[in-house]
Amino acid sequence: NIRTRFAPSPTGFLHIGGARTALFSWAYARHHQGMFILRVEDTDVARSTPEAVQAILDGMRWLGLDHDEGPFYQMQRMPRYKEVIAQMLAAGAAYHCYTPPEELEQMREAQRTRGEKPRYDGRWRPEPDKALPPFPAGVDPVVRFRNPLDGVTAWDDLVKGRIEFANDELDDLVIARADGTPTYNFCVVVDDWDMAITHVIRGDDHVNNTPRQINILKALGAPIPAYAHLSMILGDDGAKLSKRHGAVSVMQYDEDGYLPEAVINYLARLGWSHGDEEIFSREQFVEWFDLAHITASAAQFNTEKLNWLNQHYIKHADDGRLASDVARRLARRGINPETGPRLENALALYKDRAINLNELTDAVEPFVTEIRPSEEMLTIHFTDAARPALKILREKFGFAAWNKSSLSQAIKDTCKETNLKMPQVAIPLRVLLLGQPQSPSIDAVLEVLGRERVLNRLDHHL
Ligand code: GLU
Repeated sequence: NIRTRFAPSPTGFLHIGGARTALFSWAYARHHQGMFILRVEDTDVARSTPEAVQAILDGMRWLGLDHDEGPFYQMQRMPRYKEVIAQMLAAGAAYHCYTPPEELEQMREAQRTRGEKPRYDGRWRPEPDKALPPFPAGVDPVVRFRNPLDGVTAWDDLVKGRIEFANDELDDLVIARADGTPTYNFCVVVDDWDMAITHVIRGDDHVNNTPRQINILKALGAPIPAYAHLSMILGDDGAKLSKRHGAVSVMQYDEDGYLPEAVINYLARLGWSHGDEEIFSREQFVEWFDLAHITASAAQFNTEKLNWLNQHYIKHADDGRLASDVARRLARRGINPETGPRLENALALYKDRAINLNELTDAVEPFVTEIRPSEEMLTIHFTDAARPALKILREKFGFAAWNKSSLSQAIKDTCKETNLKMPQVAIPLRVLLLGQPQSPSIDAVLEVLGRERVLNRLDHHL
């Protein structure tokens, strides 16, 4: 039974890279009808905040990445970590190291001057017939893991292929600090073990931790999960994706008017592929997803492609759903959407071309709230030639049947009567009604606005 986890450190938002890691872990579990576990790695108390935890939960909910177990919080699991450390000490898999920090620094300094890689020299590591140093006074010991001294630690990474580390490259890792708190790699190991994780899917910035974690798991007699290390995501400009690239928090994409399904579809294709398929649903993705088609090289972010997908999803979204999203955006602008025509009808005129939901909101805003055209716009478009024609049209609108064909007929008749061309009437009409010279087909706009609103807006100027 497949069990995967997403294990964010709550030191910031859920960013795009984290969201992709979460998506792949989630999809792998869903594909195999397994379990997806959420674990909050909050042991870095100085940098972890409740706001960041909330932001991560919000981001996951927005993306629809539901978990089956958790969220577990490492800070709440301290007794368990301490218990395992005690067991390891008793079993000789770990030992106390009393080297004072200054002495450790001297040791590393000496190694550096000899041109060696700084590493713990094992002075407190117990060996048969080895005399340990005298106990220094007043030093609280750390606990170190007794790492194998020779051989290699290797795994077949499901993304990167075989990876090997020589054990003599790996220090005797500190697993508990002098104050007794367990260290990062150790907590991850105990959690992956206790939570019976079968597949660790995470960013490849953790590749160097993996051999250490495998060795500790082995010492505990725990099963070794499969590992899949995802390559990093590069920004549009080819540099490592970072805050500099603007909208890196997942919730920023919501702010910016992206639909979650567009972001999911986009992230799914970021380093994974299924033939030439570009547009697919969440369900389709779960059905197709496998680790074998993840690319080992870095994926590059492409805002244009995300926009293209967003446009596609807006175009095909249910009008009612778009309406409630747009209503929320209007409300944030202080506009009560109840006062306008049905939002569904207004946005249906624009959804085929909007790139994002804010653009869609901009487009329907003049339907809901009267936007007065600027003086400049009036001077340009509401000319002396246009005014009498609009007066005639206003009369016709007073009794015309309120449907596209009779409204369009009324405009045509007015053009004929005043000897004006269609745009000479339609453009000033748009300016008076919507505050702008362009809009979708004017008869459709009129139909959606409704007679009362149209007459009121025209009367204001005529
Ligand atoms: N907490 C780690 C991070 O946010 C992830 C650890 C893991 O997946 O093993 O980078």
